[in-house]
Amino acid sequence: MAEQNIDQEQLNALQEKLRQMSPEELREFQKKQCIFCQIVANKVQSRRIYEDGRVLAILDINPANPGHILLLTKEHYSIMPQLPDDEIAHVFKVAKSLSNSMLKGIDAHGTNVIVANGIAAGQRAQHFMAHIIPRKENDGIIFVLPQKPMEQKEIEAAGDRIIAALSGSAKEEKSEKGASLDEISKLLGAR
Ligand SMILES: [Zn+2]
Repeated sequence: MAEQNIDQEQLNALQEKLRQMSPEELREFQKKQCIFCQIVANKVQSRRIYEDGRVLAILDINPANPGHILLLTKEHYSIMPQLPDDEIAHVFKVAKSLSNSMLKGIDAHGTNVIVANGIAAGQRAQHFMAHIIPRKENDGIIFVLPQKPMEQKEIEAAGDRIIAALSGSAKEEKSEKGASLDEISKLLGAR
């Protein structure tokens, strides 16, 4: 049908446009599409709990518990590997303060600090964030990590490969390389 052809043409044109964009242009484009960037820019309303030059903490509008906070970077990053080290350090420093404020301010008995890093890990937003969730005993939130029966060899082999990759990424950090394209596309589900 004619309408579908127009849609397909528009889609092709958009894809072509995206292909021709520089990384800076692409990031600007992503920002315009991103609801959390709109919140950071105050174009979309939110209940702000804390902000400084680098992060913004807002109340989740669909909270797991009252006081559930989304801690966003003000800069648009899709996934954790894109964050510079000082930025991720700052995010978790603020997460600690927010968590402490929940223990004091709303009598939380505990908190969960959660980052969903990549689609396979349940990440839905296009913008990096940490969830800070105030918890009480028997509050109906159930995280169940399965304890899978596994061969010791298999566990050890995974550990060895992580250790090997860790020394590799330490070298990468020295050369001030950011996230590799391979890392990013894996996390975003693009293959
Ligand atoms: Zn964004």
